[in-house]
Amino acid sequence: MTHLRTRAVHAGQHPDPATGAIATPISQTTAFGYGTLERGAAIFAGEKPGYRYSRFANPTVAALEAKMADLEGAQAAVAFASGTAAMSSVLLGLLNPGDEVAFLGPLYGGTEGLFRALGERFGIKAVDATQQGLAASLTPATRLVWVETLTNPSLRLHDLAAVASLAKARGVFTVADNTFCTPCLVRPLEHGIDLVLHSMTKYLGGHGDATGGIVAGPAGLIAAVRKTGLGHVGGNLSPQEAFLFLRGIKTLPLRMDAHCAGAAAVAHFLAGQAGVRAVHYPGLASHPQHALAKRQMQGGYGGMVAFELVRNERSAAAAVLNPLRLFTQAVSLGDVDSLACHPASTTHSFVSAEVRAQNGVTEGLIRLSVGIEHPADLIVDLENALRHAG
Ligand SMILES: *Cc1c(COP(=O)(O)O)cnc(C)c1O
Repeated sequence: MTHLRTRAVHAGQHPDPATGAIATPISQTTAFGYGTLERGAAIFAGEKPGYRYSRFANPTVAALEAKMADLEGAQAAVAFASGTAAMSSVLLGLLNPGDEVAFLGPLYGGTEGLFRALGERFGIKAVDATQQGLAASLTPATRLVWVETLTNPSLRLHDLAAVASLAKARGVFTVADNTFCTPCLVRPLEHGIDLVLHSMTKYLGGHGDATGGIVAGPAGLIAAVRKTGLGHVGGNLSPQEAFLFLRGIKTLPLRMDAHCAGAAAVAHFLAGQAGVRAVHYPGLASHPQHALAKRQMQGGYGGMVAFELVRNERSAAAAVLNPLRLFTQAVSLGDVDSLACHPASTTHSFVSAEVRAQNGVTEGLIRLSVGIEHPADLIVDLENALRHAG
C-alpha cells in the first residue's frame, strides 16, 4: 500500500470483527463496558489496551486518527471537534507561561486571534516573524514555530525544510497548518516539520457538512496534545463526524486532482482578462514563489485562487461576485461546491486596515475555492460575471 490513493481508501480501516462491515461502524456510545474490575483497572492504568470513555478515545475516531497518521507519515494523530480546537490544544498542551510562539504570516485569522486572545492571557507571547524573518525572531523563550503550507488569501508559501532546520538547530519545534494543501500536495513531516495540523472541515471532509480538526506527529507530542485537548479541554470529535471524515478522505486524492485541475484552468483564464489586475495561484509562472511551489508541492498547486480587479473598490468586487451562479458566496473552502468570497469584508473584516494592506487584502481582491464542477462551466460563470461587471 504505497500509493496515497490506495492508503486514502484502506488506511485505518479493518472489517468489523463482529459483523464484517466494511465501512467503519459509527460507535455511538459514551462509555465502554470493561467487564471486570481487574480489566477496568488495567485499562485505566494503561497496562491493557481498551476503550473506556469516548471523550478520551472512540473506535470510529481512532480509525480516522490512524488514517490521517498514515497519510501524513506520522506515528500518531489526535482528532478534535474543529480545527480551532486542534490549534488551541497544541498551544495549551505544549506551551507554558513565558514561552513564545514565532509565526510566519499571514496566518489564518482565527489562528492569530487564538494566539493573541487566549495565548497572551496565559502568558504565551506570539511573535510575528514575517517581516524580520525567523532567524531574527527566535529568542531563548521561543518554543514553537507556526507556519501554514499555503497562506490565506495571498496563497504564498514558506520553505518548510528551511523553517524546520532553522528551528531544529535552536531546539524549537514546528507546527505546519496543512489545511490548504492536504497530504495529497504537501506532507510537512517529510520536510522535517514536527507536527502537522488540519481543519478537516475543509478538504478532508470535502463536502461542507462536518466540522473537525486533527494534529499528527510523533507519539510523545501527540500524547501531550491528546491529554490536554481531550482530557482537560474536552474538544473531542463526535463519532458521527469521524464517520463523515473517514468517508470523505477515501476520495480526497481524486477530489484534489479535480480541485487542482479546475483551479489551474480558472487561474489561467483569469490571467487573460482585461478587468483583472493580478491572479495569485502558485501554479502560475507569474507567482513569485512558483519555483518553491514546484519543489514543495506534489501533484498540483491546490484549489484556491485569488485575484485582484483593476478597479480596486468594494463595488467592483460586488459587481463581479453578485452575478455568479455556480460559485456560492460563502467563506470556508475545500468543498466539492465552488465558493467565492470577498476577504476584506468577511474573513479579514476584523483585521486592521494596516494589516490588511500588508497582506494584500485589498477591496478589489476576490478569493475562490474552486470545486469539482467541470472547469469549463466555472469559466463560463466567471466570464459572465466579469462581462456583467464591465
Ligand atoms: C478553517 C481553518 C482553520 C480553523 O478550522 P475550523 O475547523 O473552522 O475550526 C484553521 N486553519 C486554516 C488554514 C483554516 O482554513
